[in-house]
Amino acid sequence: MRKTIIAGNWKMYKTLSEAIDFVQTVKSSVPASDRVDAVICAPTLFLPSLVKEAEGSNLAIGAQTMHYEEEGAFTGEISPAQLEDIHVQYVILGHSERRQYDNETDEKINQKVQAAFKHHLTPIICVGETLHEREASNTVVKVAGQVGAALKGLTPEQVAQTVIAYEPIWAIGTGKTATAQDANVVCKAIRQTVQEIAGDIAAESIRIQYGGSVKPENVVELLSMEHIDGALVGGASLKPDSYLKLLEAGANA
Ligand code: 13P
Repeated sequence: MRKTIIAGNWKMYKTLSEAIDFVQTVKSSVPASDRVDAVICAPTLFLPSLVKEAEGSNLAIGAQTMHYEEEGAFTGEISPAQLEDIHVQYVILGHSERRQYDNETDEKINQKVQAAFKHHLTPIICVGETLHEREASNTVVKVAGQVGAALKGLTPEQVAQTVIAYEPIWAIGTGKTATAQDANVVCKAIRQTVQEIAGDIAAESIRIQYGGSVKPENVVELLSMEHIDGALVGGASLKPDSYLKLLEAGANA
């Protein structure tokens, strides 16, 4: 049985004081950690404060990106060692916005995934197709290719601990959600790809989230699908009420 994982991706929203307020507001209402994994992936600048604020609660803090090198002359970047040092637990890798605006390639994403495991960070690897690719019936080929590239070189045990977020690009921030059935078909194909790469145990254990206009009104149906084990949520994770409703749905899924 896979534990549901609900992760908020705050992107470039909130000030530090707003972020701290949010964590103070939600932390005592986060469901027990055996029912759901609750994560907030915040802007890098906020991470040490939020880790401190969330300490002792069931809320885990994640980063939205990182470099793959331990250290070096990479102005403006943050390293996996730096994230580990401040006790960040998760890192989003390969979000479509970073693939689009920051030239994040499959190869770089794979290097980052390997670096995450070296530093005890759980990677949340984002994959997804454009509207053009969906209309050309290329969704599964595109997504399976991204998954294969991202997981290259990992042991089956590492694959089992990975989180994959299926985020159709056309559904991000648009209010358009893939139907739960369509999302499930793609998530099933992702699990099949994982099975081919890393075997049955890894495929049964890996958690696959859906992301793209998830909100309290549609999360229950999405989470009821066999191959959808959680959600990666942008806009609807920004308000405490809405985030807690998503967690409650996750805890009851
Ligand atoms: P929205 O939930 O705002 O569509 O964003 C999805 C997303 O990109 C999460 O990573």
